[in-house]
Amino acid sequence: MNIFNYINRLFLSALFVGITTSVSVLGLQNQEAIASSHKLQDRTLKQMVKNVDLIYPLVWQKTYSAVNSPKPNNSKLKIEVGPKSKIYSKNIRKAFTLTMKVFNEVELPPITLFLISNGDDEEWANKRYQELLGKNFNPENIGYGRSPNGNAVQIKRFDPSNKELLKDPNVPNGGTDAHGFTHLLQEYQLGVGNETFQGVPRWILEGSADFMQIYYLKRNNYTYWLLNRQGQDIKQHSIKFLNEYLTYVPFKELSGAQTPWYITNKYPDQWAYSIGSYVCDILVALEGPSSLMQIYRDYVDTKNFDKSFENIYGMTWSEAKPYIAEILYKLARR
Ligand SMILES: [Zn+2]
Repeated sequence: MNIFNYINRLFLSALFVGITTSVSVLGLQNQEAIASSHKLQDRTLKQMVKNVDLIYPLVWQKTYSAVNSPKPNNSKLKIEVGPKSKIYSKNIRKAFTLTMKVFNEVELPPITLFLISNGDDEEWANKRYQELLGKNFNPENIGYGRSPNGNAVQIKRFDPSNKELLKDPNVPNGGTDAHGFTHLLQEYQLGVGNETFQGVPRWILEGSADFMQIYYLKRNNYTYWLLNRQGQDIKQHSIKFLNEYLTYVPFKELSGAQTPWYITNKYPDQWAYSIGSYVCDILVALEGPSSLMQIYRDYVDTKNFDKSFENIYGMTWSEAKPYIAEILYKLARR
């Protein structure tokens, strides 16, 4: 047992007084113990600042509960493969089913049409996409849409000549599909008003998708999942920087071609994923995974992320941000 496992075990033991005797081996046992424990209480951001170790057991418990919810989930996937294309993974359906379960509290598409285009089928995919979306076709978002009859449409573009892509294990194992289906659901919520992605911060767009991808890949083992959340990739950021990076300015206060993504766009793309996924963990710990989608649906009505954040989490984003920045800083140093 390495030092991390030892420390991890100590904190789990302290946290789950009463079930520690059954949590003698890390792995599947503690995963179930955490998920079924009724000792975990809902926590506020202020409490999380004081003790960041409260966060991950809550994220795991709330996501596990969503996946194992008795709520019926009849969302269906129909895969259409372009005439010159091939299926690139056996795990597309697995990724789809889990994503629809994790976000089971929001409106889900009855049918999702998934168009696979391996480079040579761009013309076919674009034509088919436009045909399926009809009057809802939005040239600003060619990839994810909501059709007038309430179905979801996604183009999966896959270039088989891209050697880097072929080497990425997330392609055959379904990880990139779990990520992509999260974007599909975000667009599906926004599609009610045919909004573009850029009204809601980029870090929540990519952070939610990475949250889902990581959960999909590590879903069988709490310890492995937790090892992925050590914060090394956000350790370089100061509290001051995090506060700046996470600043939200609504469309109506911006000039010209600027969008609410303008601050995020000044920095490396990867930070929207890394910083974003940790912010999303905190939001899941507060209100469960579906809250990440509810905010997209609410934005259609408010056109203001700050206000929608308040509707879902009880305070505006601008009020929550200093707490979030401090939590992120501490998460990277625990
Ligand atoms: Zn993405």
